[in-house]
Amino acid sequence: MHYNVAQLLREPIGSLRSYQLEENFTGPNRSADSMFGPVKMVRVHSGILVRTTVEVRSNLICSRCLGEYPTASQLDIEEEFFPTLDPQTGHKMEQPEEGEEAALIDSNHVLDLTGIINEYIITNRPMKPLCDLDCKGLCQACGANQNLADCQCENETMDPRWRALANLAKEE
Ligand SMILES: [Zn+2]
Ligand SMILES: [Zn+2]
Repeated sequence: MHYNVAQLLREPIGSLRSYQLEENFTGPNRSADSMFGPVKMVRVHSGILVRTTVEVRSNLICSRCLGEYPTASQLDIEEEFFPTLDPQTGHKMEQPEEGEEAALIDSNHVLDLTGIINEYIITNRPMKPLCDLDCKGLCQACGANQNLADCQCENETMDPRWRALANLAKEE
């Protein structure tokens, strides 16, 4: 998700670039499996304004049954990136208000969307992911996934009075 914006930085305010973002990820430590969507970059006074609507697909772990399930979400991102070097002179630029963590274009004029998109993905992730609102979770007794099969533990939690009746019915 690296874009060289050297040329765009030399163009007048209002100049525009459009890209199509498409990334697939494999391996551990990824925040998503794939993402795609249009990216628009506009030259603004202080740098480059990036607007994108990315569709993110990922596999999450259900907090009840611990099963993996696929999700898709859409992120609307609008973020201004500031150049570290003046594209005309090559001199170091003054950075915007200190204290604020600004998104920066590096000294090779490469604008990297990876960090910002990861940040959005993580903040948009549910605190307690659920594969389904009605997910039955794992059996407290045997650990079986109750979405897949009813385990035999149910009798244990049956009201003892009912169990007596059930036993009577079995004997008859
Ligand atoms: Zn679940
Ligand atoms: Zn069980």
